[in-house]
Amino acid sequence: MRIYSGERLCSKCFTKSIEDKVKATIARNRMFKPDDRIAVAVSGGKDSTTLLHIMTKFEKLFPKASLCAVTVDEGIRGYRDEAVRLASEYCQRSGVEHFITSFKDLFDVRLDEMVALLKDKVRTSNEALSPCAYCGVLRRRALNVVARQAKADKLALAHNLDDEVQTILLNIMHGDAPRIARVKPVLGESHPMFVPRVKPICEVLEKEIAFYAYLRKTEFQSTPCPYAPTAMRNDIRQMLNRLEEKHAGTKYTVFRSVEKIRPALEAAEKETFLHACKVCGEPTVGETCKPCEMLRKIGAK
Ligand code: SF4
Ligand code: ZN
Repeated sequence: MRIYSGERLCSKCFTKSIEDKVKATIARNRMFKPDDRIAVAVSGGKDSTTLLHIMTKFEKLFPKASLCAVTVDEGIRGYRDEAVRLASEYCQRSGVEHFITSFKDLFDVRLDEMVALLKDKVRTSNEALSPCAYCGVLRRRALNVVARQAKADKLALAHNLDDEVQTILLNIMHGDAPRIARVKPVLGESHPMFVPRVKPICEVLEKEIAFYAYLRKTEFQSTPCPYAPTAMRNDIRQMLNRLEEKHAGTKYTVFRSVEKIRPALEAAEKETFLHACKVCGEPTVGETCKPCEMLRKIGAK
């Protein structure tokens, strides 16, 4: 039973309801053109394998569209290796072209090595530098680069409703109004080197994605990242789950609230112009891009 709506669904109707919801999100936000080449970011977890499965179903309805998968190996021993293997096997079975890149290839340093450098840094400064902060910024860059290599018109991310609401609350806690406005289903960047990002499952609850994957008997990686407990996002997740249990529909309420205030936030934001980072040449608002700044801070190349 769906507590927030009161619906009682059999497994067939449940599966259809998820696919209909994704279809509606795609249509309402005009995410794709009929001849788009779409790169799905696949990590090997339940969300991204589910998104790839749904997108392969939809692709059949659009003969001019083409689909591929992109994966970033951050370099987390005992965690990402297995996920990359599962992602590759899944793509092979589904007949989807698969592009893989890694932090090592792009930045010459694995996340595990960065974490060791971060520990040294924390000992010598007061700055709070977390593995997830590095991982998030560098993964966004890596996904953009690999999607460009795959010649994709759109990069489809498997952010579910829980992810989006957690990000909204984290941005509120940091008082970051422009970033609150940027938590939205389509992020079309105004620079030719950016591949526009879309989030087709952003209105589906995480537990419903998990149930959809369970019904399909999808094999996905379920062990959590060893660095996850250090992230504040983890505590926000638990808090939101407690709230949702007590007040069903809370997550949708937060998501819809941001939809209402986004026009005001966007209107207050100054127009920014992008140019090439003086170190790596990727587009950025400042002189040096965030990934280059972060890598310099820990003494990596
Ligand atoms: Fe990266 Fe943090 Fe996610 Fe682990 S939990 S994959 S370090 S963002
Ligand atoms: Zn740079």
